[in-house]
Amino acid sequence: MEWLSSFYKHWINHLCVTNCFSIFGTHKKILNMEAFKGSIISKLPGVGTSIFAVMSKLAVDHQAINLSQGFPDFPVSPELIDLISQNMKKGHNQYAPMPGLPILRERIAEKIYKEYQVNYHPETEITVTAGATQAIFTAISAFVKDEDEVIIFEPAYDCYSPAIKLNRGIVKYARLRLPDYHIDWIEVARMISNRTRMIIINTPHNPTGSVLRKKDLDELHKITKDTDIIVLSDEVYEHLIFDKKKHYSVSAYSGLAERSIVVASFGKTFHATGWKMGYVAAPANLMKEFRKSHQFVVFAVNTPIQYALAEFIKNEDNYNKLGAFYQKKRDYFLNLLKGSKFKPVPAYGTYFQVLDYSKISDKKEMDFAEELIKEHGVASVPVSAFYHRNDNHQMLRFCFAKQEDTLEKAAELLCKI
Ligand code: PMP
Ligand code: GLN
Repeated sequence: MEWLSSFYKHWINHLCVTNCFSIFGTHKKILNMEAFKGSIISKLPGVGTSIFAVMSKLAVDHQAINLSQGFPDFPVSPELIDLISQNMKKGHNQYAPMPGLPILRERIAEKIYKEYQVNYHPETEITVTAGATQAIFTAISAFVKDEDEVIIFEPAYDCYSPAIKLNRGIVKYARLRLPDYHIDWIEVARMISNRTRMIIINTPHNPTGSVLRKKDLDELHKITKDTDIIVLSDEVYEHLIFDKKKHYSVSAYSGLAERSIVVASFGKTFHATGWKMGYVAAPANLMKEFRKSHQFVVFAVNTPIQYALAEFIKNEDNYNKLGAFYQKKRDYFLNLLKGSKFKPVPAYGTYFQVLDYSKISDKKEMDFAEELIKEHGVASVPVSAFYHRNDNHQMLRFCFAKQEDTLEKAAELLCKI
């Protein structure tokens, strides 16, 4: 039968290149797509392809070790995979309820309670989302409208500002202060106006690995109390925290939790970035508005994975050991880099390590990142890509969510520079 299938493929191929189908007497002309002839007024002028896609493609094109885009190169727990396939086989393959499966929302509420001793009602205060990106977009679309101002901190994760602009908001850029990328709260207080609708924070922080301290939340509380400002708190790396630092979630801070939407990502927590699964937790009145948008963005998200996650997160070990696991990887990577000309910026969380290359080159970050791929075989992300004006500080971000072997190969190449 093999000859038959290979003959068949050959035949189809032949038909395709001749640009004309003739099967059992029907003729089908293949249409080549022409460009749209009307005018396009971009809602996102100046926005190109995401830096992660660009660097990952360059890595593939030049066969470089890819420490650019943040994703693990090791497998997902086989137990979790089995749970998903069992649930598919059981027939859990149709739409889930719009806010998420009740059992998963209950388990999420239990998990949050165990972590932060705060009660979110699973019925009204938790929604399962298709990853954190969708959660962030939906939260912004639910609350930001015509010329509302949103404060974000640069370097900032890439999806915040396009989502604000698409919803006709105005992005106000505050700046994390070097050398440790801390927030200057005096600057933030000055930026607040009667149009400020939202402040987006991110801890542990991508790309720098900095983490907010209790006193940062105190400041945030001080400047937002008695205002209508909503805090969107991107906590996707909540479990990836090192050196005995504590993750300060806004959900555990009475006074801030009531104005906050907390975003989490199962992709980060369970090494499965490709599944695009996450959730948000917020007070019921904020969640009610969030769901009005959510139902028309995705309606509901992947059913069998929700069943599987509901089972998997019952076991705290499946996420509580993550900090130690990634700290080991960070330390392994940094040890391998000892003796290189790269200077690490202390990273207390996430799976990213920023390296200062000022002893090696005066080139701009994007140019040096390209050189690193093309001439040295290692892909990273220029930190300048996280600034709207592409500020350069001679810093590159490397993802260490990789097997030891990958880190060894990359470090060997970096040490030769
Ligand atoms: N926020 C931050 C800070 C991230 O780093 C990422 C992705 N790495 C996201 C949000 C998006 O997460 P998801 O893949 O679940 O959409
Ligand atoms: N969050 C990942 C990173 O920071 C990338 C996600 C994406 O490619 N959009 O690398």
